[in-house]
Amino acid sequence: MAVLPRHNSVLAADSSAQEHRLRLYHTHTGERIDIVYRRGDQYLPEAEAQLDHFLRDHRTGEVKHYDPHVFDILSDLAAAVGHPNGEIDIICGYRTPWSNEFLRARSSGVAKNSQHMQAHAIDIRIPGVDTLKLRNAALALGRGGVGYYPRSAFVHVDTGRVRTWCYGGCSTKAMPVSASEQTRSSEE
Ligand SMILES: [Zn+2]
Repeated sequence: MAVLPRHNSVLAADSSAQEHRLRLYHTHTGERIDIVYRRGDQYLPEAEAQLDHFLRDHRTGEVKHYDPHVFDILSDLAAAVGHPNGEIDIICGYRTPWSNEFLRARSSGVAKNSQHMQAHAIDIRIPGVDTLKLRNAALALGRGGVGYYPRSAFVHVDTGRVRTWCYGGCSTKAMPVSASEQTRSSEE
């Protein structure tokens, strides 16, 4: 009987040491990062700072501290689509209000109060993974907003309330089961 607690404590030790890693490529800056940002339940402040800088507003260079739960969404998404620790393309990270207005003036797919301005949102694609598959995996996580941009081939994820929308090139097969879940508004 003494074996069981010992076994459990070993499992607990393993779990507390589990490393969560992200490999990212930023499509606008051309930068890459490969980083362990969390060990067990602990987010690593130095790694967070590097990721905050990596995800800076690429138009203005301004940095804002990210909600690290977005990093978990990215890590879990890569695993969910069969690319654990695979490289993720970043289309957009943090946006200053200036940058958001700049985009809003050019696209109806950008929200006035975008989660990007809170550093709660990231737009991504995973090379070799169909955009719809990635979007469905993000919906299945059920952890926040999921925007589907089939024409631009990216998915928006954020840690805001759970909601979903589609912008640009949306077909009926891509629509959520429940119409009430769906907004076609510009929430990006
Ligand atoms: Zn977005």
